[in-house]
Amino acid sequence: MSVQKPVRITGLDTDVKFVKGVGDRLAKILNRLGVFNVRDLFMHYPGRYEDRTKICPIYNLRAGEPASIQVNVLAVEEKRSPKAHMLITKAAVCDDSGIIYLTWFNQSYIKNKLIKFVNKEIIAFGTPQVGIKGLEINNPEWEEAGNISDSLSINRIVPIYPLTDGLHQGSIRRIVHQALDKYLHDVEEILPDEILDKRDLIDLQCAVGNIHFPESKEAFDAARYRLVYEEFFLLQLALAIKKHNITADTNGIAFKVTEEITKDFFESLPFTLTNSQRCVINDISRDMSRSVSMNRLLQGDVGSGKTVVAAAAIVIAIKNGYQAAIMAPTEILAEQHYNVISKMLEKLGIKPVLLTSSITAAGKRKARDLISSGEAQVVIGTHALIQDDIDFNKLGLAVIDEQHRFGVLQRVALKEKGWNPDVLVMTATPIPRTLALTVYGDLDISVIDELPPGRKPIRTHWKTGNQRNHVYQAVRKLVNEGRQIYIVCPLIEESEKLQAKAAKELAEHLANNVFPDLELQLLHGQMKPAEKEEIMRQFRDGEINILVSTTVIEVGVDVPNACVMVVEDAERFGLAQLHQLRGRVGRGEHQSFCVLIADPKTEEGRDRLNVMVRTTNGFEIAEEDLRIRGPGEFYGTRQSGIPSLRIANILRDVDILEQSREDAFELVKSDSYLKKDAHQKLRKEIVKRFNSFELVSLG
Ligand code: ADP
Ligand code: MG
Repeated sequence: MSVQKPVRITGLDTDVKFVKGVGDRLAKILNRLGVFNVRDLFMHYPGRYEDRTKICPIYNLRAGEPASIQVNVLAVEEKRSPKAHMLITKAAVCDDSGIIYLTWFNQSYIKNKLIKFVNKEIIAFGTPQVGIKGLEINNPEWEEAGNISDSLSINRIVPIYPLTDGLHQGSIRRIVHQALDKYLHDVEEILPDEILDKRDLIDLQCAVGNIHFPESKEAFDAARYRLVYEEFFLLQLALAIKKHNITADTNGIAFKVTEEITKDFFESLPFTLTNSQRCVINDISRDMSRSVSMNRLLQGDVGSGKTVVAAAAIVIAIKNGYQAAIMAPTEILAEQHYNVISKMLEKLGIKPVLLTSSITAAGKRKARDLISSGEAQVVIGTHALIQDDIDFNKLGLAVIDEQHRFGVLQRVALKEKGWNPDVLVMTATPIPRTLALTVYGDLDISVIDELPPGRKPIRTHWKTGNQRNHVYQAVRKLVNEGRQIYIVCPLIEESEKLQAKAAKELAEHLANNVFPDLELQLLHGQMKPAEKEEIMRQFRDGEINILVSTTVIEVGVDVPNACVMVVEDAERFGLAQLHQLRGRVGRGEHQSFCVLIADPKTEEGRDRLNVMVRTTNGFEIAEEDLRIRGPGEFYGTRQSGIPSLRIANILRDVDILEQSREDAFELVKSDSYLKKDAHQKLRKEIVKRFNSFELVSLG
């Protein structure tokens, strides 16, 4: 038996508590920020910077604008404010252009320190405010003017770090500075020379140094560019390798795809396909005919006609003797797909099987048998499809609708019900291209970018709460003309129960006081599936004039005669949700309307409503959403697998993202498993960074 020597942890792996000036107490605080070792500390990037390099004459100071001043200390005095029990230290300081007061609160050591500088020069930084005696600066940071070359907070571009309780800017600056002094030389370059040359990137040590304490604006820009590039590059490299693994695996099903196979299907449709639909069906056919498994994302705005595209792929699979499955996120949507696709495939003699968690035990048993025997050629369902007891006989195609509702794992789970089936992911979430490159970097992407002909653009109006009665009058007029209406009740995020209650109250109020003579029904998430289905049937069949609903109708519901979507308290909804809700109308021959009733209290809220009024283009809305809310919050992308970025900004750094993607895919083309010597450091870094979210299986 060999005795293992304890490993001495050195260099960047050094525990942060051993960095000079840290110790156990501060280390615990840093741990809370995810900083455990020196490497983490180096990657704890400043959130912003203040340029304190320019000295501003006192005369030019403006309230609210942070500035540095170089001043002579005239006098210092300390007072105790009797009311607030506060110790106030005041210094009068001047330069050639004027006098100003600097004030500190409860900093008992300031007076003794400052008194030594009377009649000497200091440099101070802070934000002037209007006080009793004109402008003054509260709690400025300061240093002796002769001494500023080593200052971390004066006369330089100063990093402002994200903090947590118990950690101050001054301490984190000192800690990072100490760590740089001692460990910066341990930072090793990981990017290959050819990339550094091609993109004119500065080396990693220089970048790390300058991202924390920039020597100049130019040095900072170069450092940030280098680090943003690297962050994207590693991510894109991981995706490129993953994608290479997928395409290198030729154990997929090579379906026979001929005109013969799909002819009957296309001829049976009541409409002709749009050019866009034809193109994406071509993409899909090409993928399906290859022995490499298909992994394709089909993006298309609400109402663009994705269902028929999925049906075409299903026909190809079935005619080749395989089973196909569609997984939808809600029962309503699964049922609707079931109805629509049953009709589409009727003439071909294909009868889909529906599987949701709400069908009876006996029904489920029957469905399960049909699925495992292979008699069920098409199975349509919810996540009930990926339960353990479901065994497909020969699953060849897995279609996943409305991807943003499912996590990555559920996508994989359905795929694993077959043996290398082709996968088609459909989403109405118009993911901006930049985000798609990052989130779905390993999928191929097809886009349906036109709506079926003859659709009239939906007119969107923003009305305030006190215009509600006008809205209701307009609704009544359209009902009299034979149209149907959705009214979506205010969003309550906290609980499904409260949401159902709010929906009930609104429905009762409208039924009793506003539309007593009309047929009005309620639909919400807490109702029994059979009840929901019955109400949807009645609505589809025109037996209901007004459907009061929660967001359960957000996804996919298709009733062409419904042409008004009224959203109550629209300011509570996100842009993505509003867009989805609006997508429920505008599906028939009639002019459709979306009415957003909202009294937003914030600028952001007003922005969102204006975007909705201005455009119906889902991609534009998604870009705006990303801009208004920032990438972290975008469409709940956190669940859908978007890795958190430390320094890169998906919006601002699009160009760098694209550069890095091009370079990463090119590199993987020539060295797919990063086996070359020049790529060893990269390889190590990628394994370290991404093994936790299973992006990489480096062969
Ligand atoms: P989504 O992309 O939102 O899932 P659907 O597949 O539900 O859209 O299609 C929306 C509506 O458009 C459906 O009623 C469908 O029958 C109709 N549709 C689809 N393609 C065409 C087309 N090429 N021409 C006319 N109508 C179409
Ligand atoms: Mg759909």
